[in-house]
Amino acid sequence: MTLDPQTIRIDGIYEQRQPGNFMLRVKVPAGTVSSDQAVQIAEIADRFAGGSVHLTTRGSIELHWLKEENLAEVWRMLAAVGLTTRGACGGAVRGVTCGPAGAPAFPLVSSFAQLLHHHFTRNPHFEGLPKKFKIGVFADRTDGRHLIQDFGLVLADSAGDAPRYDVWLAGGLGREPSAAFLFEPAMPVERIIPLAEAVVRVYRAHTPKGKRLKHLLRELGRDELLRRVEELRGDDLPFVDTFGPLQFPAGGGSRLEAPVFAGELSTDELRELAGIARRFAGGFMALTGGQNVVFRLVDPFQRGEAEALLAAAGFGGTIREQQVAFRVCPGSHECRMGLAPTRDVTLALIKAMGEEGLRRDWSISGCPNSCSQPQLAEVGIVTVKSVKGDDGERRPLFDLYRREEEGRLGVPVRQGLPLDDLVAEVRRLG
Ligand code: SF4
Repeated sequence: MTLDPQTIRIDGIYEQRQPGNFMLRVKVPAGTVSSDQAVQIAEIADRFAGGSVHLTTRGSIELHWLKEENLAEVWRMLAAVGLTTRGACGGAVRGVTCGPAGAPAFPLVSSFAQLLHHHFTRNPHFEGLPKKFKIGVFADRTDGRHLIQDFGLVLADSAGDAPRYDVWLAGGLGREPSAAFLFEPAMPVERIIPLAEAVVRVYRAHTPKGKRLKHLLRELGRDELLRRVEELRGDDLPFVDTFGPLQFPAGGGSRLEAPVFAGELSTDELRELAGIARRFAGGFMALTGGQNVVFRLVDPFQRGEAEALLAAAGFGGTIREQQVAFRVCPGSHECRMGLAPTRDVTLALIKAMGEEGLRRDWSISGCPNSCSQPQLAEVGIVTVKSVKGDDGERRPLFDLYRREEEGRLGVPVRQGLPLDDLVAEVRRLG
């Protein structure tokens, strides 16, 4: 390999578990992809990525199985439809995530998330950070994702000329999960970008390499962290809604969702979804935190027709895997860090579930990095290690998390379970 694994991360690349193959993460602004972009990504995946794509829990798209010699052409093809991978991995402000896609205020928060994406992407002031810096903009607190951002915004008031957001700071998962704290409620929107810039600068200046903002918070304490942020905070930036709710029709009553098992889509499926978006949803679709695809229909009276096409494309929710909300990271199928084949484990667990289990919200991560956010699920599973059995085969062990309270992260209730015991636990949950 001629690529240096450390320096290439900033361009959205990780080497896969299978040497010589690469994963490339595409930053999708606010998780909103146009039909043209989706078709281009399908074209790239057909030519270079084994004919499939992976939807992440942050609304990004990952391409696997890429070869080094094809990366330049892949970047060219992405740039041709206005997409970049810059800062999708490594020490940078990562793709700005957004949701929930079905909320009435989604067009408004999506527009602000896009503005933030463009403000921070490819800007050298916000690269070269100790580790990742995650920003998320949310219409409400329902899925708790504001708790795991370095800089999380929740819409507090959308009346009047400019919206206001609750600002949450210094959350994150990984090996040391920590919920964000409320920095300021109902902050006027014109103060938010100067504040975010100051937080990133303080993070870069004072945090050891490899550590997140939550580490700096632990080191300094809340008061000192906030004092340093205030010192660097610039003037308010007049709010101009440069994107506007152009991509989505207003209102929440015409939402249609395509359930995608484990975020895995074939290129044929992606093209079908792009066609449905073009015909019924103004040419755009939203990638959700649940690794699904949401359309906001322009004409609610076309719902039946759109549903029929979705079902014909295989997204009718008739198969069992589509009937349960289950976030799944790539695990050892492709990821170098993976300790368990997450999709296989998920299928085994879904098979064991009863009716109650199918109604719960689930998540599994293939290692303690927790990319699929298991601490936000009603029932979360984290693969914690793999151990060698008497037969010399390695087998994964899992911790089982339960999240009982809104506003808090889930906590482990069973630890070090082999797969058979995990399946038994899932069966017991109904
Ligand atoms: S949780 Fe671990 S195994 Fe899963 S994608 Fe993240 S790093 Fe890879």
